[in-house]
Amino acid sequence: RPDEGKSWAPPPFEAPEVRFTKLFINGCFVDAVSGRTFETRDPRTGDVIASVAEGDREDVDLAVKAARDAFDHGEWPRMSGSERGRIMARFADLVERHADELAALESLDAGKHPAVTKAVDVGNAAGSLRYFAGAADKIHGETLRMRGQFQGYTLREPLGVAGLIIPWNFPTTMFGIKVAPALAAGCTMVVKPAEQTPLSALYLADLAKQAGIPDGVINVVPGFGPTAGAAIASHMDVDMVSFTGSTEVGRLIMEAAARSNLKPVFLELGGKSPLIIFDDADLDMAVELAISANFFNKGEACVAASRVYVQESIYDRREFKKLAERMRSWVVGDPLNDPRVDQGPQVDKVQYERVLSYIEHGKREGATLLTGGTPCGQKGYYIQSAVFTNVNEDMVIAKEEIFGPVMCLMKFRTVEEAIATRRVVRSVRAGLVWVNCYFAVCSDCPFGGRGLSGFGKDEGLHALDKYLAVKSVVTPLRGSPW
Ligand code: NAD
Repeated sequence: RPDEGKSWAPPPFEAPEVRFTKLFINGCFVDAVSGRTFETRDPRTGDVIASVAEGDREDVDLAVKAARDAFDHGEWPRMSGSERGRIMARFADLVERHADELAALESLDAGKHPAVTKAVDVGNAAGSLRYFAGAADKIHGETLRMRGQFQGYTLREPLGVAGLIIPWNFPTTMFGIKVAPALAAGCTMVVKPAEQTPLSALYLADLAKQAGIPDGVINVVPGFGPTAGAAIASHMDVDMVSFTGSTEVGRLIMEAAARSNLKPVFLELGGKSPLIIFDDADLDMAVELAISANFFNKGEACVAASRVYVQESIYDRREFKKLAERMRSWVVGDPLNDPRVDQGPQVDKVQYERVLSYIEHGKREGATLLTGGTPCGQKGYYIQSAVFTNVNEDMVIAKEEIFGPVMCLMKFRTVEEAIATRRVVRSVRAGLVWVNCYFAVCSDCPFGGRGLSGFGKDEGLHALDKYLAVKSVVTPLRGSPW
């Protein structure tokens, strides 16, 4: 530390220059056809960061055309898997080299802690690109042992133009985990980032170009859901859609796909994940896990453990009583200027008001607010993390996804009562189960839900399947049998 003995504070956060605010189509940054723009705001203050070109149907048409040309006539789907992998690894290198700038940009746009953004968002995106770079030359078909006079094999071919619609809570990660397998498969794509956080996807598009990904392979169209997003979902020349976002919009996307060209759709949707604490758990560790599983990324995580089930025999233990005390050292504040901050502002005014209205609902329904739950700060969208106790299954806060820093503590008596059967891991109907840990994600671990939380995996080799079509090829063994 400089000037030992004097009080030390980190240098104030310097907002990064916003270099890319236009649509990225066919390798160029261009204005929207309409000329319209929209504002992206700093959640710490509500102030405008930048005006961004607002893509709509005509822009999606142009982007899809660029992607279609690149797929039908370009080199990307035709080059060897190892060459694609080499370029993708270069893309990963560039993401890592620009990690600080990218993390600063993302943190500013989404109200996140830059160190966390760098480690988690940027780290996951680079990790995904590297993982799928390694997979690009390992996409094999099978040899078929046909009956009678025939032999056959399968080819796994890139599906075509992928539509990738992503949310605002982990924008860089979402870009990475969708773009990487699509690239490895040999697809071309149109990415629509969320309107709250459009900046990182444009920055990443520029890095992709620098890495040598040919023009037209990755196109980025920022804009709103009902316009740009819906245009992708209903486009006749988009061959598949991979979407992460709310269950409600997931339904709209499936409908649009069904009404247009029956494109396959893969959905990563909302959740209401349970964290189950049994009476033999290390309670200090369980409490810490419950806190991070609920309040990490300000609770803006589809896998947040918003229902914490505690076995009745330990529910009244002091460790849970001490939760309120423990939360007093959980710092809510400006994550860009104070390294002690654990939790930044909610992403925008809409989410902020939505979370506060759920908290009010919880109080009205009779749950006990143990701590937090109030707005804080002079401006911006800060909420003191809330812990509710005495929550029962019928309450709205126990049933609906809040997508904010709200923990619900609930009681259960027996394992059977918690999950209605004995073998916990095998019995829980979920896409992912974490035992004695939380948020443990990695490029080779398939990620995605079941039921109303969606279907289809991001990450892991399973993710490649979404972007590949299987073609069976059959030939006679000897001449023609007819
Ligand atoms: P959202 O569904 O409103 O928006 C997500 C994306 O869809 C945005 O890019 C948006 O512009 C677009 N969109 C909105 N309406 C559309 C339409 N009619 N057609 C096409 N695209 C449209 O969700 P949100 O509120 O921004 O994000 C939070 C939700 O995302 C939460 O429910 C959360 O659980 C979910 N989520 C899920 C995962 C997961 O992996 N399962 C990860 C992150 C977020």
